[in-house]
Amino acid sequence: MKKFDVIIIGGGHNGLVAACVLSKNGNKVLVIEKNEKLGGLANYSEYLSNISQEVLKELNITVEKNTSDNFVSALSEDLNHTVLQINGSKNVQFLQTSASDSDQKSFINLINKYDLFARTLRSFMFKKPPRVKSGSRSDIWQLFTMGFKVRLLGKKNMRELLRVIGLNIADDLEDNIESDCLKGLISNEAVIGTNLGARSPGSILNLLYNQATNNSFFRINKFNTNSFLKSIEDICKKNNVEIQTNKKVEKINISNQSVNSVLLNTGEQIETSAIISNSDPKTTYLELVGASNLDTDFIRRTNNYRSRGTVAKVNIEFKNDIKIKNLESKYLSGKFVYAPNIKYIEHAFNANKYNKLTSNPCLEFYINKNKISANVYFIPYLKKSSHDKEQILKNIKLILDKFIEENQILSSLIETPNDIESKYNINGGHWSHGDLEIDQLLMMRPFYGSSQYSTPINGLYLCSAGTHPGGGITGINGVNAAKQLLKDKGNG
Ligand SMILES: Cc1cc2nc3c(=O)[nH]c(=O)nc-3n(C[C@H](O)[C@H](O)[C@H](O)COP(=O)(O)OP(=O)(O)OC[C@H]3O[C@@H](n4cnc5c(N)ncnc54)[C@H](O)[C@@H]3O)c2cc1C
Repeated sequence: MKKFDVIIIGGGHNGLVAACVLSKNGNKVLVIEKNEKLGGLANYSEYLSNISQEVLKELNITVEKNTSDNFVSALSEDLNHTVLQINGSKNVQFLQTSASDSDQKSFINLINKYDLFARTLRSFMFKKPPRVKSGSRSDIWQLFTMGFKVRLLGKKNMRELLRVIGLNIADDLEDNIESDCLKGLISNEAVIGTNLGARSPGSILNLLYNQATNNSFFRINKFNTNSFLKSIEDICKKNNVEIQTNKKVEKINISNQSVNSVLLNTGEQIETSAIISNSDPKTTYLELVGASNLDTDFIRRTNNYRSRGTVAKVNIEFKNDIKIKNLESKYLSGKFVYAPNIKYIEHAFNANKYNKLTSNPCLEFYINKNKISANVYFIPYLKKSSHDKEQILKNIKLILDKFIEENQILSSLIETPNDIESKYNINGGHWSHGDLEIDQLLMMRPFYGSSQYSTPINGLYLCSAGTHPGGGITGINGVNAAKQLLKDKGNG
């Protein structure tokens, strides 16, 4: 039987990043990926908004930057679209809008307020979250710095942060802005990829959390995803990491509460004393570890972890190059958002709550000549049935017809959360491998007894978006999980 120091289950970007860190420290590492292509869900975004400088430094890589202008357009049915140019979260300019001057000012003030709060949270995103009652010096120090950083905001801002953190985004927007289009644009950032509507408590927290990890309010195109994936794959190759694709881990074999090998779908068994799972927490525990190796209370917590996906990836190819009505062609390189008002988002969300398909989904998309690549929500994960994809396409087409000049669809590909689940073996096909809500954050992510990247099984670690600090293409989870493993092995 072959033997490795560490086996990584899944070649998503976090699994690959973990492989880089471990191999750099002299470990013999094997990555097993179910699909032909590495990168996992990161393959759904051609560009990414931010890779943390900490991760880039840790891996010692540079990633190709996107040099095009950063435009964000909020589409409006009266064709008075709003176009923003974004140069860093502190430099947002209106290029075109029907919103009043005072609304524009309030919009910028709100973005600056969220930016300030997100920067305060940002320093907690890169480290292993502290345990509240551990008594360890480093955990106490981290908790103290958390409190101190919030205190540093000053009395007024600290009060405001504590006021809004549990609020819903709709309330804060309605207190400050009149324009429906601007309210929709901000709400989009607070609810995409979640099971939250604009009126759900915690939607501001989600917004701040994403902003803190992505270091970007509108998640605009800053880096090329393929360049990032290639860089980490190159490091793996250079450090002799063995990568086996088109193979699925069926089982983690455990004896005396410690991992000892993995069983593949090919029937191969590979020995190891340490495993990092890049699969989501539910799949890792319920499918790979198996209930017989976990205690009842832990299984209950695993089952209660919420990971129902809500976003479908839709690619549409049109016959001719795409033109948006009443929009200059120079803005076509930017991101488009169709979430026209809070009521519209709430309607789409309400259908999702009851596992229904809304006929009016929200869209976030990029255009490349005659192609559209869209994130469409709310398209709920369905437990026992499947969606009518023709209906989804019809609904999207009805929306796009309002904005796109006469054009014929040549082909389309729709991947619902159910498709994402079966393609990537991610329970619920969730954007972040699990909802980012107050009870599934920080030291409680994914849940009590499984946080800080460790698990109840000796030698088993988690590194996916289901761990702190959640989803997005950041690589932080991969670095932190690898460092935790190294520390436990005594060389961290
Ligand atoms: C439709 C969609 C659009 C998104 N758009 C954006 C965006 O614009 N910006 C952004 O920042 N984030 C976006 N995200 C979120 C982001 O892509 C993910 O949060 C992130 O890529 C997760 O990375 P990961 O490495 O933790 O997990 P994954 O990418 O899910 O990697 C897990 C890997 O493990 C493999 N695997 C699982 N089980 C096994 C097994 N048993 N054996 C072998 N291999 C296995 C899977 O095939 C997969 O490759 C999007 C997500 C979705 C679904």
